[in-house]
Amino acid sequence: MTAAVLDGVATAAAVKDELRVRVDALRGVGATPGLATLLVGDDPASRSYVAGKHRDCDEVGIRSVRVELPATATDADVRAAIRDLDDAREVTGIIVQLPLPAGLDELAMLEAVDPVKDADGLHPVNLGRLVLGVQGVVDAPLPCTPSACLELLVRHGVPIAGAEVCVIGRGLTVGRSIGLLLTRRGIDATVTLTHSRTRDLADHVRRADVVVAAVGSPHLVQPAWVRPGAAVLDVGITRERILADGRARLLGDVHPGVADVAGWLSPVPGGVGPMTRVMLLDNVVRAAERAIA
Ligand code: NAP
Repeated sequence: MTAAVLDGVATAAAVKDELRVRVDALRGVGATPGLATLLVGDDPASRSYVAGKHRDCDEVGIRSVRVELPATATDADVRAAIRDLDDAREVTGIIVQLPLPAGLDELAMLEAVDPVKDADGLHPVNLGRLVLGVQGVVDAPLPCTPSACLELLVRHGVPIAGAEVCVIGRGLTVGRSIGLLLTRRGIDATVTLTHSRTRDLADHVRRADVVVAAVGSPHLVQPAWVRPGAAVLDVGITRERILADGRARLLGDVHPGVADVAGWLSPVPGGVGPMTRVMLLDNVVRAAERAIA
């Protein structure tokens, strides 16, 4: 079997087309959405991620604002910058780019963002709303990578209701919250959350109809672990082996041989990554829609 591709590039392009229509409608009533990024220090990878987010905004007509502080910024400096963005009417979404320089409390800074403008969907208030919202539409920003995974599955027609889902990794950005999305009434998956202390990880994976690998350990998930025909979302990313032109190669958590066993597989790059970026835009646009509702 050669797995069908869960194509994040094509799916993200389709979502961007839908977002352009929504942004045009908002612009028509004078409510253009706006994303603000706050970059502290000069980490090259963070700078490149932030630049990508501004390019994405340009593509769908979202206004974007870039705020930068030096690596020497204090807790008070960062809080003041966040407060300004919380107060700015033209900003409907805020990203505090992580990691922050050593000495700054990342969780405290994420909490300083107005939950209404939380573009990452990781503010404790919004995660709490997700916990409480077992049915109906969760009227709050959603964590971007978990919603990217769900959207990829839904738009490729992968059956989710009643499916056994094995999530590998209990990290904040993916594993911790994805079960909350997938077990909601109407989506109805059964989710097992595994981590580095899980006994017999391979056995858990073998039982799954859908595998979400969110670890950051290259090629951890072996072909022999995967049930034939399962859908496999390769979320983890490891930058490795500098290529001749100086760029890093991206490695996923899933062994390439899994493509011969799985029914669906999201590639790295070109799978969950591009979808995560559009779900961030969706949070920014949705915040603007809520503001005028
Ligand atoms: P994280 O905080 O990096 O945590 C990694 C998790 O993996 C931990 O829960 C850890 O378990 C678990 N783990 C480590 N080794 C393991 C093993 N051998 N078997 C089972 N579990 C193991 O998690 P994260 O922030 O959610 O990120 C996870 C990965 O996804 C990273 O590679 C990140 O770069 C990537 N990511 C990709 C996207 C995208 O758009 N494609 C978006 C977000 C994140 P313990 O808790 O027991 O240590």
